[in-house]
Parts: sequence; structure tokens; C-alpha cells
Amino acid sequence: MTDKVIIAGAGPAGLMLACELGLFGVDAVVVERTPEPRIDAPGVAVNATTIELLDQRGLMDELREGAFPLPTEHFGFVFMESANPGRPHENTLLLLQQRLETRLEKRARELGVEFRRGVELTGIRPDEDGVTVELRGADGATEELRGSYLVGCDGRESVVRTLSGIEFEGVDAVFHGIVGEVEIEHSELQAEHIGVHHRPTGGHFLGAPLEPGLFRVMSAEFGYEPPADDVPVDLEELREATVRLTGVDLKATGIRWLTRYPNTTRNAERYSQGRVFLAGDAAHVHYPFNGQGIGTGVHDAVNLGWKLAATLRGRAPKGLLDTYHAERHPVGQAACDNVRAQVSLCHPPQEMAPLRAIIGELTKFDNVRRYLLDLVTGLSVRYPSDQEDAHPLTGRRLPHAELVTADGATSIPALLRAGQGVLLDLTGGLATPYTAETEGLEDQVTIVFAQATPCIEAEAVLLRPDGHVAWAADTDRDPEGLRTALATWFAAPTACRGAAPRTHVSRLP
Ligand SMILES: Cc1cc2nc3c(=O)[nH]c(=O)nc-3n(C[C@H](O)[C@H](O)[C@H](O)COP(=O)(O)OP(=O)(O)OC[C@H]3O[C@@H](n4cnc5c(N)ncnc54)[C@H](O)[C@@H]3O)c2cc1C
Repeated sequence: MTDKVIIAGAGPAGLMLACELGLFGVDAVVVERTPEPRIDAPGVAVNATTIELLDQRGLMDELREGAFPLPTEHFGFVFMESANPGRPHENTLLLLQQRLETRLEKRARELGVEFRRGVELTGIRPDEDGVTVELRGADGATEELRGSYLVGCDGRESVVRTLSGIEFEGVDAVFHGIVGEVEIEHSELQAEHIGVHHRPTGGHFLGAPLEPGLFRVMSAEFGYEPPADDVPVDLEELREATVRLTGVDLKATGIRWLTRYPNTTRNAERYSQGRVFLAGDAAHVHYPFNGQGIGTGVHDAVNLGWKLAATLRGRAPKGLLDTYHAERHPVGQAACDNVRAQVSLCHPPQEMAPLRAIIGELTKFDNVRRYLLDLVTGLSVRYPSDQEDAHPLTGRRLPHAELVTADGATSIPALLRAGQGVLLDLTGGLATPYTAETEGLEDQVTIVFAQATPCIEAEAVLLRPDGHVAWAADTDRDPEGLRTALATWFAAPTACRGAAPRTHVSRLP
């Protein structure tokens, strides 16, 4: 019997999962068919959820250098102000996916995760105790690898999903596009090429100078049928698309990489099947409005990582792994749905113009803008709770508030760095009876006493290792609710497996 977790695919979802499993000391291996980290990852922006999840594991500081916040947000290219009261971070950051992937792979390797690059997963044989996968190297040699779990983070064409027979239903492409990086003297670029443009035809054009002589480009066109898949995309095809969308020629002289992409929207019927899980684009795919592509996949990974780790350490309450599908499948569906709504707003342009105008007016109401921003940045995600009368914070993420403890200043993301659960007492110690409830869970739940903050509307909060609220209480106290939440998400050691107890209690002055 092995405890190894096999991750198929080193995109953002697979790499984030690798970091999470590495953090929890799980024996994990990433199997990736490209021999080297790719230079052609298509993403350019990450949303608030991705920023929070990276920040809570200490990964944002380095990435923030050279990244910059978008001054406006949009819903289907109806632009709105990006102010983010109550959330001390940006809604969307321009950050190349390639940089994100490089950072995540570095961290995963530092945490001891094994990488098998240049190896393709070609077959799977799941059984009750684990999964055997078939791998094929670049030289054609095949081998088998055994794991306790397999997580398919292998993208929209996922082999893991296909071989598992999991349906991937949805809507076929309603538009097509080209994405890539081309060589061009920046002096040749026109204003029409730079930034994000929603065209009167309903299509989109995005262009960003990256470094001297290099330009990132992305087009999206409704009603355009691209050449067959086996016809390579060339500069001429890109220039024609650019002229159609911007009216101005793009005098590119060379290609660094260029590819076509379809706009399909699909959500897998199941995110787990026995010991096989799906995350990222393997589970859900949609047009990547608002950084929702990377965001939803990274969020999957952070949801799954601690649950797999707890299960392998013998510290998972019954049914913990089942909550992965239960929590993430609706989130994937919601992302597909809001993106389809946004795409519908773009086309056909003339029919949609009056509706776009009304939505534009509505976004001037603060609560409408907040609703739309939370929806597209993933901040509106709230996992369902079985508890009757659950506190409104239950299932949500807390704002990344600053906190004052006896040990000095700290913050919500800082408390989550180690991947522990956190019982946060904001009463100045008045609610200390709560702490007794965590007996036996000292290695899983850190108790922190901090001063009350207006950013968190509760007196005590239990955070899961992924930063979502498992339980919260106001002045009414609720030890019974806390007991239930602890029993739902954490389990005391039952056998000799697991790490030595580690208690951290941070008291108020
Ligand atoms: C044009 C375009 C622009 C985009 N822009 C953004 C953006 O700005 N922001 C955003 O958030 N999202 C964006 N996205 C979406 C984003 O790129 C994806 O959502 C994200 O890459 C999905 O991550 P993933 O890890 O799930 O899968 P992927 O990134 O697809 O990674 C899957 C990995 O699995 C590997 N793999 C596949 N099959 C196998 C196999 N059989 N064996 C071994 N390895 C395998 C692949 O080589 C790949 O490395 C964009 C997408 C497109 C098409």
C-alpha cells in the first residue's frame, strides 16, 4: 500500500495541488508530458480569489513584483469601477500565467514534491486501494506507477477524465480566437493594439507589450470559422484577425508562439470517482473572463489538498473527501454560467446593445457592482453548511484583515501559512471556553486570541486549512455549533499515524 498521490498535469491547478500536498508532507508526484516548463501558457491575469489563495500560503510577495492591478473590472466587457472596500487586495492583477507556474513549480520542488516531466499519462486502473497509471516517456518507453489517489489536472482534453468515463457536458464554441506572442518593434504598435478592447462586432482584442520586441496578443471573434486543426496558425491569419477586430494592421515579423483556442463551456458530471479526482480545466472549462480560469482551478486544488492530506494521515472525519465534489462542482457550474451570461452580453452586438446599456447603469449602484465583482472574482463562493442557522460567514472566506495579538501584529493570510485550521477568538479571551473544544486536535487547529476588528463580523471563527469558515459565532456563543464543526472537518488521531501534537496559543496582551 502506497500513500503517494499522483498529479497528472503541471498547469496552475496541478502545481497548486503539488504545493498544498508538499506543505502537508504528503508523498506526491507530478506527471507532466512537456519536458520543460512551458512558455506558451495563455493566461495574463489572476483574480482576487487566486491572489488570496496564493497569499495565504506566502506565495504572493514575490509574484506581486512586476504585476500590476487592473484599474477597472468588467462584466461581459461592461466596464465598472474596481474599488474593493473591505478587501485589502486587488480584484485582478496582470500576472503572466507562465510566471505563476514557474513560481509554483519552484515551491513544490522545495517542499519535496517529485516531478516527472516529459512523461505522458496514457492509462489508468483504479481499484479499491489506489490507482495504477500507465506512463509513456518521450522515447516511447512505458512504465507503471502506483498511487493511493490520482488527481487529473491535465487540462480541458483530460485523459484522466476521459478514461474514467466522466461526462463533460456543456456548450460548443460560440467563438474562436488566437493567442500568442509575436515579435514586433514596439514603435510599430498602434493605440488600437494595446489594452483590452471590446469591438462593435462583439469580438475582443487584447494586446500587451511584454519586453522590447515582444507582444502578447489575443483575439476572440464571433461567427468566424477557423481553418482546420491541422493547419498551423501563422502571422497572416493573426494579421487578418487583427484588422477585422481593430481596423489596423499588426506589423509583426516573427512568432514566439501562436495557437488557436475554442470557446467551449463544459462542467464535468463528477469531480471525483473512487480514488480519482479532477481539478482545474479537466473539471470545468469556459472562456477565461476575469481570471476565472486559473482562479477556479487553483481554488479546486486548495479545497482538495488538505482533505487528501488529512485522509492519508488518518485524520479525516467520515465523508471528508466526498465534500470535494459537493463543494466544488457547484462552483465550477457557477463559473460556467456567469461566463456564458457574459459571453451572451457580447453577441449579437446590436441586439445586446440596449441590455448592455442597462447593465452599465445598474453597475453604478454599489451593491450591484459589489455583487458582480464578487461573482466574477470568485469571492462570492460560499460552501453549503449542514448546520441549522449557520452564521452568515460560514462557508465563506474571511477578508485578509490585519490582526493584533499578544505576539504582535499578524493577519488572516499569515495565520493560514502553515495550513492548519485556526480557531480565532476575537473577544479578547472572553470566549476562552471555546478552546477546550479543540482538545485532541492540537496538531490540526491553532488557537489565536486577537483584538476585535470591524473587518470580521463575528466574535469567534473556526477556519479550515483552506481558509474557508467552518463555523462562526456572534455574542450569542455557540459551543455546540463549534463542536459540530470540529467533528465535521477535523478528527483526533485514531491510530499511531500522524505527526506529533503541536499546540500554538497566541494570547492577547
Ligand atoms: C486564450 C486564453 C487566455 C486565457 N487567459 C487567462 C487569464 O488571463 N486568466 C485566467 O485565469 N485564465 C486564463 N485562461 C485559462 C487558463 O489558461 C486555464 O484555465 C488554466 O491554464 C487551466 O489550468 P489547469 O492546470 O487546469 O490546466 P492546464 O493549464 O491546461 O494544464 C494542464 C497540463 O497537463 C498536461 N497534460 C495534459 N495531458 C497530459 C497527460 N496525458 N499526461 C501528462 N500531462 C498532461 C499539459 O501539458 C499541461 O501542462 C486563458 C485560456 C485561454 C485559452
